[in-house]
Amino acid sequence: MAKMIYRALQIMPFGTNCYLVASDKTRDGMVIDPAGDAARILDNISELGLSIGIIVLTHAHPDHIGAIAQLKETTKAKFALHAAEAGIINQYGDSQFTMFDPTFRPPPPPDRLLTDGDSIDIGDIVFKVLHTPGHSAGGICIAGYGVVFSGDTLFNMGIGRTDGPGGDYDLLISSIRSKLLNLPDETLVLPGHGPKTTIGWERQHNTFLR
Ligand SMILES: [Zn+2]
Ligand SMILES: [Zn+2]
Repeated sequence: MAKMIYRALQIMPFGTNCYLVASDKTRDGMVIDPAGDAARILDNISELGLSIGIIVLTHAHPDHIGAIAQLKETTKAKFALHAAEAGIINQYGDSQFTMFDPTFRPPPPPDRLLTDGDSIDIGDIVFKVLHTPGHSAGGICIAGYGVVFSGDTLFNMGIGRTDGPGGDYDLLISSIRSKLLNLPDETLVLPGHGPKTTIGWERQHNTFLR
């Protein structure tokens, strides 16, 4: 059976977790949420010997997107995000975010729009798209191989903020309950910010989900 490997990179200044995910065998990979510092992400891709076929966003907030343009140019990977998120990707034309992160570049238009239940095929491995709106209208989680990349939907002992545009608290809770809490307890949760956790731990201890 195909084996998945991943590496987490915490990207400053927003402390966003960017994940490199790949097949252990073919070294085909994807990048989830290339938040910034493209040079460091590219160094890690080379170090792992990966061939990146796709860049996937859990959602298009500015703290998750700063390195897409550079990564796409260098790796020739496709860029994908949920259809309901595509509108906001065009709003970053003026690079006001370079104030916070000098490496920030506005993202290019997407090559692929994802919907709930879609497959993301990378070499001999395959992940499933779970649409989990609430933090953002087109928020997704990416599941497979005993792992779920949860973006800003579910954190270790927390949940995403819902006070921004497209935020909806009740919708977020129902997304987590219907799409994430039905995963096995031992599923590793790799969030968009902060330390990893498991579905079982969050089911028991996350006060937002009581
Ligand atoms: Zn966010
Ligand atoms: Zn975030």
